[in-house]
Amino acid sequence: MFGRGPSKKSDNSKFYEILGVPKSASPEDLKKAYKKAAIKNHPDKGGDPEKFKELAQAYEVLSDPEKREIYDQYGEDALKEGMGGGGGGHDPFDIFSSFFGGGSPFGAGGSSRGRRQRRGEDVVHPLKVSLEDLYLGTTKKLSLSRNALCSKCNGKGSKSGASLKCGGCQGTGMKVTIRQLGPGMIQQMQHACNECKGTGETINDRDRCSQCKGDKVIPEKKVLEVNVEKGMQHSQKITFEGQADEAPDTVTGDIVFVIQQKEHPKFKRKGEDLFVEHTLSLTEALCGFSFVLTHLDGRNLLIKSNPGEVVKPDSYKAISDEGMPIYQRPFMKGKLYIHFTVEFPDSLSPDQTKALEAVLPKPSTTQLSDMEIDECEETTLHDVNMEDEMRRKAQAQREAYDDDEDDEDHHGGAQRVQCAQQ
Ligand SMILES: [Zn+2]
Ligand SMILES: [Zn+2]
Repeated sequence: MFGRGPSKKSDNSKFYEILGVPKSASPEDLKKAYKKAAIKNHPDKGGDPEKFKELAQAYEVLSDPEKREIYDQYGEDALKEGMGGGGGGHDPFDIFSSFFGGGSPFGAGGSSRGRRQRRGEDVVHPLKVSLEDLYLGTTKKLSLSRNALCSKCNGKGSKSGASLKCGGCQGTGMKVTIRQLGPGMIQQMQHACNECKGTGETINDRDRCSQCKGDKVIPEKKVLEVNVEKGMQHSQKITFEGQADEAPDTVTGDIVFVIQQKEHPKFKRKGEDLFVEHTLSLTEALCGFSFVLTHLDGRNLLIKSNPGEVVKPDSYKAISDEGMPIYQRPFMKGKLYIHFTVEFPDSLSPDQTKALEAVLPKPSTTQLSDMEIDECEETTLHDVNMEDEMRRKAQAQREAYDDDEDDEDHHGGAQRVQCAQQ
């Protein structure tokens, strides 16, 4: 799209692409997209400064209705001219911090520009959800406790805001221990300093904050409303950005809920489809059936065969639009598959046999004549459990193989070496 010469059409989509939003994005969407991307790409968090600058530039233009209109119509170049040349734009860090109302989203202590901030850990919780809840959607209120920066000392831990270098680690926050593993062998291990909990600083006893006792954080209860949307999948994540434990000079991690779909006694789910088992008697399979299936939302579905239709054992039928709702398109639904098992009677009385012969289609194989029968040998059929049969056979085969091995060990050593060399 670039460098097509003077006749090129002005590029008015780059800024939208940078923020990853469609051209129709609302100011709210833009805000959200910028916030997310800017936090992610902030150089303090190890992000790419160029990318961070681009984001700020794109947001600066698109968040201003006037500039956005110019950009939409004439592209970036027009803006540069309109803005009095230069096109230098503003400091991306200023745009970033003004976005967060002058404060930093990375916890108290203001902007720590230039200093690398570590990112707090994400807290991951499994969230058990029934299939009904995933079908209908639900909101779950969950109470969690987390560490929040102490409001009294702003996470400094001291009244004065001052801190001293930790004597245990000389302010590095790390200690190295050397362990002798054996003669001439040592192991060097680095771990967080226990005296300062890895912060590298200590606080004078008299200067300690009275609320957090110098811990800088205090535990707080937080209630989160987790919105389980229709059609969400097993192991799908619901993220609450920046809601995990707060710590000084740390980008707060996310609380992440991972959906764990509970087993359902009746319905099995595969993606957007549902599967249900149904057993028919032989009479139902041959002569027709109807039954009521209560769906996940409590609706009763009447399920019936077509007149004259025969249902074969181990066959499937499907009902459209009665599967799971599709995530974020809940008006669309998958299919509901019914797997049919047909129960045959174990035996029939002679009368039943006669009656059935009279009504069922004649066998296609011709009847054997007495003479043909005379020429054959009689056999007897007996019941088998095929699984047991196969298991027995496999066992017998293993034993025979083991015997072979033993035989070979007695005299085949040299032969084997030869084989291996080939
Ligand atoms: Zn220390
Ligand atoms: Zn405090």
